[in-house]
Amino acid sequence: MSQFLRPALSALDPYVPGEQPQDKSYIKLNTNENPYPPAPGVLDAITREAVSQLKLYSDPTIAPLKAAIAQQYGLQPENVFVTNGSDETLGFSFLAYADAEHPVTIPDISYGFYKVFAQLFQVAPTVIPLREDFSLPVEKFCGVDSMVVFANPNAPTAIALPLSEVEKIVASNPDHVVLVDEAYVDFGGESAVSLIDRYPNLLVVRTFSKSRSLAGARIGYAMAQPALIDDLERVRNSFHPYNINRLSMLAGVEAMKDTAYFEDCCQKIIKTRRHTAEALKDMGFTLTESATNFLFAAPNVISGKEYYEKLKDRGVLVRYFGTQRLSPYVRITIGTEEEMAVLLEKTREILKEANP
Ligand SMILES: *Cc1c(COP(=O)(O)O)cnc(C)c1O
Repeated sequence: MSQFLRPALSALDPYVPGEQPQDKSYIKLNTNENPYPPAPGVLDAITREAVSQLKLYSDPTIAPLKAAIAQQYGLQPENVFVTNGSDETLGFSFLAYADAEHPVTIPDISYGFYKVFAQLFQVAPTVIPLREDFSLPVEKFCGVDSMVVFANPNAPTAIALPLSEVEKIVASNPDHVVLVDEAYVDFGGESAVSLIDRYPNLLVVRTFSKSRSLAGARIGYAMAQPALIDDLERVRNSFHPYNINRLSMLAGVEAMKDTAYFEDCCQKIIKTRRHTAEALKDMGFTLTESATNFLFAAPNVISGKEYYEKLKDRGVLVRYFGTQRLSPYVRITIGTEEEMAVLLEKTREILKEANP
């Protein structure tokens, strides 16, 4: 750190992404990527011609991608906002709606970036603890007199909140934006998109990184009534109007159009999740009910840390968080059937070694 950095930034704890080791090849179950490749149309769209067009700026209106997303969800392009990953949507939303005088309410255990953005933009967050069973105490998010941000389904707990409960939070905070981060909704959650036409304060945030197999393309989006989208466009156009590059735009349109491929990938992951969860339960693990592409799982004879380390030694990477309440647990991304078979085999070895 230099002596020039603003004090507010030197005090910040930046987001720590999951390991992305480049040294040896692991079975990578630590950052919730999709194990299946992007839709076939994506591969065909990235032609030599498309690459040669990189000499030109990208389309700052992002119109083709907005149209593809709007069509998929029965909305208009005016209801859609698109960014470089949904992290950017989250950042722009904090910038648009929260500051020192406009606080934000978030759960204590959720996506780590919410706290980072609160620090970055000098917003005082009200942090509400999850219940003992990691469910969201809905009543504590109702009528809170601040912006509300939460993930549904939540991470890393994997638990989904029913739509009726989400609606209670949205309806009880009519004077504040309620941001519902639906990064994992395609794996079993109930989306709040159907509430958009009734609630001018609802902002639904999504990503292409998980269910659309495009983590490396960096595409996120939000859906809301046009007035909220206008707010976010003001921020985007004051920061980076060319935030979606040409190749990602092509990739995103193709990935959004191919509903059959998308549904097939989601179904495969849901099926593999069920097998894996059953096998882990049989080995004595404690698991939450997952509506996501990952499992939140605690072994019963060793700590979360030990399990994480022993899996890593055996070439399988999962995510360990290590904070107090999460320390018994790891977060395991659902990979292919073959990858999960290896995870289960290594897990059996590790438990046998711990408890011969
Ligand atoms: C992965 C994830 C994101 C970020 O996704 P990107 O679009 O890759 O930036 C946002 N929110 C949650 C809850 C996530 O798990």
